[in-house]
Amino acid sequence: MSMINGIAASNGIAIAKAYHLAVPDLSFDKTTVANAEEEISRLDAALEISKKELEKIRENARVSLGDEHAEIFSAHLLVLADPELINPVKDNIRNNNINAEAALDETATMFIDMFRSMDNEYMKERAADIQDVTKRVMAHLLQVSFPDPALIDEEVIIIAEDLTPSDTAQLNKQFVKGFTTDIGGRTSHSAIMARSLEIPAVVGTKSITSSAANDVMIIVDGMEGTVIIDPTEDELATYKAKQEAFEQQKQEWAKLKNEPTITTDGVHVELVANIGTPEDVTGVQNNGGEGVGLYRTEFLYMGKSELPSEDEQFESYKAVLENMGDKPVVVRTLDIGGDKELSYLQLPKEMNPFLGYRAIRLCLERDDIFRVQLRALLRASVYGNLKIMFPMIATLEEFRQAKAILLEEKDKLVADGVSVSDSIEIGIMVEIPSTAVAAKQFAKEVDFFSVGTNDLIQYTMAADRMNERVSYLYQPYHPAILNLVHNVIEAAHAEGKWAGMCGEMAGDAIAIPLLLGLGLDEFSMSATSILPARTQITKLSKADMQELSQQALTLSTADEVEQLVRQKTGQ
Ligand code: PEP
Ligand code: MG
Repeated sequence: MSMINGIAASNGIAIAKAYHLAVPDLSFDKTTVANAEEEISRLDAALEISKKELEKIRENARVSLGDEHAEIFSAHLLVLADPELINPVKDNIRNNNINAEAALDETATMFIDMFRSMDNEYMKERAADIQDVTKRVMAHLLQVSFPDPALIDEEVIIIAEDLTPSDTAQLNKQFVKGFTTDIGGRTSHSAIMARSLEIPAVVGTKSITSSAANDVMIIVDGMEGTVIIDPTEDELATYKAKQEAFEQQKQEWAKLKNEPTITTDGVHVELVANIGTPEDVTGVQNNGGEGVGLYRTEFLYMGKSELPSEDEQFESYKAVLENMGDKPVVVRTLDIGGDKELSYLQLPKEMNPFLGYRAIRLCLERDDIFRVQLRALLRASVYGNLKIMFPMIATLEEFRQAKAILLEEKDKLVADGVSVSDSIEIGIMVEIPSTAVAAKQFAKEVDFFSVGTNDLIQYTMAADRMNERVSYLYQPYHPAILNLVHNVIEAAHAEGKWAGMCGEMAGDAIAIPLLLGLGLDEFSMSATSILPARTQITKLSKADMQELSQQALTLSTADEVEQLVRQKTGQ
């Protein structure tokens, strides 16, 4: 056996066979062939296997993720069956006596380039579909395996260099017991999604793909951040016991499911959840969430081949609001960019995507996309307790512009006789240091703040949240961060507004006493963190934590802060 250390990304213990999700090498040589018909038969066979696979994937996606996600595979099947693409490939083989790989590549590339160059979103999407399908057919021609998360039908732990959020969205919990990657950090989006799926995960191991062979037994300890490859009988027994203890602990926590979160000196704080899809609401309810503090709507836009329509979005927002009843639901408008790509928007590659064209920056420029989302939200607002927040706000002008667009769409809807709630709070995420520093000015105009520490920490410490080499700089307890958070809360309260936090820091056991002391009103976290946080907070006194946090603000390092918290709270 051997043990590899990484970053603990999602709690729990998984024990299963390793499944490598590698991008296959699809390189080939162009050759002249003597028998063109033989090449055409090879092509037909590859098309046929690809078709069967795609049908299976579509069915799996329909069952585990719903019709919406399955649609993309229907588009792929249409490409496979399209004579306007397939016949030219065959003609190319016959006319030029070249191998099927070369003919497929040349013909598909020609179509892809042609569709891409058109000034038409629909055709651009078709280019992306052709590209995806061509890769699959090519893999079959070359007889290399083309691993596919949606095809898995036995218990495995996924091993990959990285998982994109859309790979993660395709994972079926029934079979995928855990995952572990070479790169990534605790706040990369695949890690965040693992927590909402409640799949144990260890990321940023640097070397798991080169250390664990396909099919070897592995253990992922998502609490310690370790992966054990080919465990001994003793180790298996130890981890099975740990797995059981974790299940028991969960039952203990569950006792507080329907209780409010009140400190020993009688102060109530709100514990709400971060969600990515309407289906995640079940997890919020099962874990005793008092609302939704962050609905990451970008997942609605991902894993498909085109922008979601206004009606489609309306249905999702309405479902979340209705299911949450009168509990607050904070919906964040589209935050695409950074590690969340939308291939069909064909955005140019950037040197520093986290510092680039993302979130509100993109929405203000592409207000055609933004307005559709806002209209869907406004229409859904009458079905529950909706609050809207804008991501990545750096300047007051951005907030004013976004709010003005929202109000314009509201006026239009009202003029058309559509009912819209009159009590929607409009707030911002505080993710950019300038906004945290200037919170006083923002507080006069926004209804609330929600501190997004995943980004706020990466920008304050200048350390890419996806880069495991600099992950030591993800320091939520650093006095610099605490001072920024303190400033935001004070600014909100001075204007009678509320301040929440929806970055991962809000669910961190060391940070919680500090945030409580700093006066945070709302803690929004992965649903599975809510009950442990409630258990913790109900044992703390707010007055004591105020004293603790004031002292923490004056310390010099994150380490000193952590020691102080441990000493005062006995953790
Ligand atoms: C954050 O930045 O803290 C946040 C909650 O947003 P995201 O993780 O989606 O960037
Ligand atoms: Mg963010």
